Amino acid sequence: SSRIVLVSRPVGMPEPENFRIETVELPEPDTGQALLETLYLSLDPYMRGRMSDAPSYAPPVQLGQPMVGATVSRVLESHDTAVQSGDIVLSYGGWQTHSVEPVRYLRRLDPAAAPVSTALGVLGMPGFTAYSGLLTIGRPQPGETVVVAAATGPVGSAVGQIAKIKGAKAIGIAGGPRKVALLRDHFGFDAALDHRAPDFADQLAAATPDGIDVYFENVGGAVFDAVFPRLNSFARIPVCGLIADYNATGLPAGPDRLGLLMSAVLRKSLTVRGFIQSEFAGEQMPAFLEQMSQWIARDQVHYLEDVVEGFDGAIEAFRGLLVGANLGKLVVHVAD
Ligand code: NDP
Repeated sequence: SSRIVLVSRPVGMPEPENFRIETVELPEPDTGQALLETLYLSLDPYMRGRMSDAPSYAPPVQLGQPMVGATVSRVLESHDTAVQSGDIVLSYGGWQTHSVEPVRYLRRLDPAAAPVSTALGVLGMPGFTAYSGLLTIGRPQPGETVVVAAATGPVGSAVGQIAKIKGAKAIGIAGGPRKVALLRDHFGFDAALDHRAPDFADQLAAATPDGIDVYFENVGGAVFDAVFPRLNSFARIPVCGLIADYNATGLPAGPDRLGLLMSAVLRKSLTVRGFIQSEFAGEQMPAFLEQMSQWIARDQVHYLEDVVEGFDGAIEAFRGLLVGANLGKLVVHVAD
C-alpha cells in the first residue's frame, strides 16, 4: 500500500519536497478495527493548518506521519460486527491507499442514496459547515443580502444556495471568469463577482445597494477589505476560514487598522463569531443530512466536484486548492 507523509513543515506555500510518497506493508486490523481501502480522499484547506506547528484547534501532523484527511473507503476485512467486508464507509483514513481504523469511528454509506464521494462534500463536512455556520450564526432573513467568497467551493456554494432557500439575496465571489459564470448558471447566485477584477470593490458596492447583512467569511484578505465598509448595522459575520492568509509568513505592511475594525464592530453592533463545524455536529448533523438530501433531491441545491485521478496526484491538487486551481469540491479518486 502507499501513503503520503509530511517530511518537513512548509514556510509559505507547501512545496512537493514537504511530502514523501512511501510504500508500506498492508496494515493488520485488531479487535474492533477494520482494514479499509481508500476509494476517495478529500482534500481540504484545513490541511494546511495541520502541516504547521503554529497554535491551532487541532494538533499538527507529526513529521514522518501520513497527512490526515477524510476518506470514503471500502471495508476489506472487519473485526467487528458493525461493518462487513464490502461495506462503503466514511472514515478518516488520511493520505493512504489503505488504513486500519476503529469501527466505531466509521459511518456506513448507502451508494444507492447518493454518489459516495458526496459524503466528503455537499453531504459531508463542508456542506455541514455551510449549513451550521450560516443558519446558527448568520441567520439570514428574507430580503437580506448574504455575501460569500470561495463561492464555487463546497462551503461557499452551499452557503449561497441555503441563503436563497431562506429568502435572502446571495452574492457570490470567486476567482476568474469561469468560476463567476458557474456561480450564476450552476449555483443560481443573484450576482457573481471576480475578486481578481481591478474594480472588484466598486462591483461589490454596485451589487449590494442595500448593504450587507451577512458576510460568511471564508477568505479574509482583499475580499474582507471590500466587504467591510458595506456591512449594515447588526450584520452577522460567521468567521469560517481565512484562506487568503493560510500561507502568510507575517503580517502585511501598512497602518494598523485594528482600531478601525473594532470601532465598526461597536458602532454597527456587528456580530463577529468564529466557529469550527464540529462544535455543532453533535446537535445538528442528523437534521443536516436529512435536509440537505431533500434539497438535492428537489434540485434546490446543486453541487460540483473536482475529481483528480490517482493517489499520487494528491500533492499537486492540494497545492492548487490553496490558490484556487480547483473547480468545486476537490477529491482524489484512489480506487474503484
Ligand atoms: P474551496 O474548495 O472553496 O477551496 C478554497 C478556495 O479558496 C479556492 O478555490 C479559491 O477560490 C479560494 N481562495 C484561495 N485563495 C484566495 C484568496 N487569496 N482570496 C480569495 N479567495 C481565495 O474550499 P472549501 O469550500 O472546502 O473551504 C472554504 C473555506 O472554509 C476555507 O477557508 C476553509 O478553511 C473553511 N472551512 C472551515 C471550516 C470550519 O469548521 N470553520 C470547515 C470547512 C472549511 P477562488 O478561485 O474562487 O478564489
